[in-house]
Amino acid sequence: MADAVHGADLTAWVQEFARLVHEQRDVLTELDAAIGDADHGTNLDRGLAAAVSALAAESPTDPAAVLKTVATTLIRTVGGASGPLYGTFFLRASGALGEGDGAALAAALRAGVEGIAARGKAEPGDKTMLDALGPACDALDEALADGRPLDVALRAAAEGAARGRDATVPMVARKGRASYLGERSAGHQDPGATSATLLMEAASTALAGRS
Ligand code: ADP
Ligand code: MG
Repeated sequence: MADAVHGADLTAWVQEFARLVHEQRDVLTELDAAIGDADHGTNLDRGLAAAVSALAAESPTDPAAVLKTVATTLIRTVGGASGPLYGTFFLRASGALGEGDGAALAAALRAGVEGIAARGKAEPGDKTMLDALGPACDALDEALADGRPLDVALRAAAEGAARGRDATVPMVARKGRASYLGERSAGHQDPGATSATLLMEAASTALAGRS
């Protein structure tokens, strides 16, 4: 099957996510300095470096096992809200991942995003990572339903995430530390929506050219 997603593809995805977060670490932390506690970039960078190391040490080949290793490492090593939330994302995605083609990947991503929503009790418009991830899943599902190949659909998902990230700027935060600022949280881009966009960009890059 042209679109089949293997463990190595998912490992490449996480490696690329780690690379982008490392590159954007200071940007993420500055965004969090404006409406939070200035740790989002350093938190995630540390956790993803640990996840990449764990994947190298354990070399899981099964796709679900790759995602589970990432989940447990992030939950263990990332402090703050985003560690458990990204951990939940990868754990739920792992549990939902069926025999891997594009539709299976899309279903796993959707399950991961629903896991974040359940764990964080956030809704669309609350100015969180969900505001990037929800539109990303919608764009992915729509592109696949239109018969697009997985690489094209993942590019659409990354673009959906970026639009959702940009839309967080005028929002007033209703969840997480930024919500303590009330109206003063408006006018700032949400750090978690920014890192979540990197997650989708990494998927697009790492899984490109598969079909
Ligand atoms: P902390 O706020 O504990 O310092 P981070 O700085 O690592 O954690 O992550 C902050 C990001 O986490 C926010 O920008 C937001 O996107 C996300 N976030 C915070 N709380 C929630 C929640 N309840 N549901 C979904 N996402 C959340
Ligand atoms: Mg923070």
